[in-house]
Amino acid sequence: MIDNWGRAIVDLIYLLSAALFVVAIWRLSSPRTARQGNTFAVAGMGLAILATFFHESIDKNYIWMVLAMVVGGAPGYVIAMRVKMTAMPQMVAMFNGLGGLASAFIGVSEALGKSNIATGTFATIVLGAVIGSLTFTGSLVAYAKLQGIKSVTSFKLPVERNLVAFASVGSMIVLIIASILAGSGGLGDTLLVIAFIVALVAGFLLVVPIGGADMPVVIAILNAFSGIAGILTGFALNLQPLIVAGTLVGASGLFLSLLMAKAMNRSLVNVIFGSFGAAAVKGGIESSGEAKPIRETTVEDAGISLGYAKRVIVVPGYGLAVAQAQHAVQELATVLQARGVNVRYAIHPVAGRMPGHMNVLLAEANVPYEDLYEMDAINDDFQRTDVALVIGANDVTNPAARDDPSSPIYGMPILKVDDAERVIVLKRGMSPGFAGVENELFHKPQTNMLFGDAKDSLQKLVGAVREA
Ligand code: NDP
Repeated sequence: MIDNWGRAIVDLIYLLSAALFVVAIWRLSSPRTARQGNTFAVAGMGLAILATFFHESIDKNYIWMVLAMVVGGAPGYVIAMRVKMTAMPQMVAMFNGLGGLASAFIGVSEALGKSNIATGTFATIVLGAVIGSLTFTGSLVAYAKLQGIKSVTSFKLPVERNLVAFASVGSMIVLIIASILAGSGGLGDTLLVIAFIVALVAGFLLVVPIGGADMPVVIAILNAFSGIAGILTGFALNLQPLIVAGTLVGASGLFLSLLMAKAMNRSLVNVIFGSFGAAAVKGGIESSGEAKPIRETTVEDAGISLGYAKRVIVVPGYGLAVAQAQHAVQELATVLQARGVNVRYAIHPVAGRMPGHMNVLLAEANVPYEDLYEMDAINDDFQRTDVALVIGANDVTNPAARDDPSSPIYGMPILKVDDAERVIVLKRGMSPGFAGVENELFHKPQTNMLFGDAKDSLQKLVGAVREA
C-alpha cells in the first residue's frame, strides 16, 4: 500500500516536472520572458532530481548521489557565473557534450554484466551509448573550434573527409547491429564497449573537418543528438522526465538546426559535408573583373545625414561582434533618439556567427528589446527609411541573394537595405563576408562606405552627430 502511494507520488512529481519543462520552453521563446523560462526549467529539474531520490529502481546510495551532484554542480555553477555572453556557444557545446556522455555512461553501466536484458531495452542502451559518446567528442571539437584552439582548428584529416565520414558512420552501424544481435552479456557487452569507443573517435572525425563558421549549426545538431541520447536512456531506465526533457531538447535542437540552415539557404547535409563559405573563399571573391565604383564618405558627412534623418534603421552584422561595437552603437542610437530620430534595429536570423548573436550583443549594451525587429517585421520599412546604417554586416544585405540566380547565396532571404534612401556601410575594407561573394550593395548609387573599425567609426559618429 505504502509502496503504491510512494510510486504514485513519484510519478505525479515527474508529471509536474515534465509540465514545467514544457512551460519553460514556451517562456524561453521570447527574450522578455526567457529569465522566467529558466526559472521554470530549474524548478522542473529540481523536482525531477528530488523524486529520483525516491524512485523504486534507484539504489539508495544517497552519499554517492549527493557527492556526484556536488562534483558536477559546483564547477557547473562557477563556470556558468563566470562565462562571458560572447562565450555562450562554447558553453552550450560543453553542456551538450556532457549531457551526451552522461546518457552514454548511464546506459553502459546499466547494461554491463547483465545477461537478462530484453532485446528492445538493450537496443535502446546501445543506440543511446553510441549517440551520446559521438555527441561528447563532437561537442568537444566544436568547443575547441569556437574557442580558437589552434591544434584543433588547424587539424587536417589525412584522407578525404567524406571517406572518413562514410567509414565512421558505417562502422558504427555495423557495431550497433552486431551488439544488438549478440544481446546483453558476454560478446554483446564487449561489442557495446567497442561501439562506445568507436563512436568517441567518430564524433571527433565527423566534426573536425567542418569550418569554424558552421559550428553554430553543428552545435544545434549536437544539441538534438544529446536530446536523443537522453530519450533512449530514459526509455532504457523507464525514467519519464528524462524522456520528456530529451524530447524537448532533441526537438528544439532539430528545429533550430533546420531554421538556421534555411536562413542560410543551405541543407544540413551541405553544412556537414561541405561549406559554401570554404568553397567560395578558396576561389577568391567572385567578380565580373571590372573595377566597380564605390562612394566613400567621411565621419562628418555621415554624422550630418544621421543627425538630420527622421528614420534610421541599424543593420548589425558579424563585424559588430568582431569590433565589440555594441556599446558604441547604443550610444549613437541614444544621441540620435535625443534629437528626435526614430532608430530601430533590423535583425537577420543568421547575422553574426550564432543564432541570436546580435540579440545577445545588443542586450549586453542594454538596447531595448522593442527597438529590435526581426527581418520580416521590418523589411518593408526600408523604403520609408532615410538612412540604413549597416555595421559590419555583409552577406545578409547582399542583393545578389535576391537578384542573381548564379550567386552561391541566391535564395537566402536578405534585409532589403538597398530600398533605403541612403545606405551608410561601416566596415574596414572591401573584404567579403562569410560566403565569400562580392556585395553589389557597396556599388549602388545610394550607398556610401565609411571605412574603419566599426567601434572606432561609431565613436567618431557620436561626436559628429553631436556637432551636426
Ligand atoms: P558577414 O560574415 O557576411 O560579413 C561581416 C563583415 O564584417 C565583413 O565583410 C567584414 O568586412 C566586416 N568586419 C569584420 N570585422 C570588422 C570590424 N572590426 N569593423 C567593421 N567591420 C568589420 O556577416 P553577416 O552578419 O552579414 O552575415 C553572417 C554570415 O555568417 C552569413 O553568411 C551566414 O550565413 C553565416 N553564418 C551565420 C550563422 C548564424 O547562426 N548566425 C552560423 C553560421 C554561418 P571587413 O573585413 O572589410 O571589415
